[in-house]
Amino acid sequence: MFISFEGIDGSGKSTQARLLADALRAEGHEVVLTREPGGSRGAEDIRRLLVEGPPDRWSPETELLLFTAARRDHLERLIRPALDRGAWVVTDRFADSTRVYQGAARGAEQARLSDLVESLHRLVIGVEPDRTLVIDLDPAEALARATGRGTEAEDRYESMGLGFQLRLRAGFHDLARRHPARVRLIDGSGAAATVAARVRQALAAP
Ligand code: C5P
Repeated sequence: MFISFEGIDGSGKSTQARLLADALRAEGHEVVLTREPGGSRGAEDIRRLLVEGPPDRWSPETELLLFTAARRDHLERLIRPALDRGAWVVTDRFADSTRVYQGAARGAEQARLSDLVESLHRLVIGVEPDRTLVIDLDPAEALARATGRGTEAEDRYESMGLGFQLRLRAGFHDLARRHPARVRLIDGSGAAATVAARVRQALAAP
């Protein structure tokens, strides 16, 4: 079973991925908990190229190629072998992040970049998770949670602003509308344990 968590920066998706992995392990499953960008040694090297340096270090196309290269390595080296031996894979972000961050949220260029995102996905990735859980939170609330914690999420809000996060959220909502069997929106407000219970409910639902 392949599960991805998605959401805007500071939505709490990393916490939810960890809580789900812990719960599945307690039930006796083998679970590989991983993340993107990164998750394999090569992909973690590419992650450093993506998250270090100024936000305009790469052109949109180069950034997309780097995210895709990292995902291909992650898939080949970690995800596919784990799925082949029957483990559960829980990943903090997968291809939907690229659809939204490198595609849907890119303003005037979004149509052209979204086409490129889908073409590359078809060519070199080609798989979707069995279930995708979007931890949905108002960007203003996510920013309030992140403020003062010195996290990457806080940096992202500083460099890209609230408007970008609003476009990301709209992009995730659109994916949930277009792929209702796979992509589920989870209300991310409230305590982590409350959100974790919503996640379990969404996974149990047909
Ligand atoms: O989820 P995480 O905080 O680890 O993501 C690292 C950084 O990469 C964040 O600033 C996030 O906004 C950014 N990112 C991105 N495009 C993606 C995935 C993540 O710009 N496809």
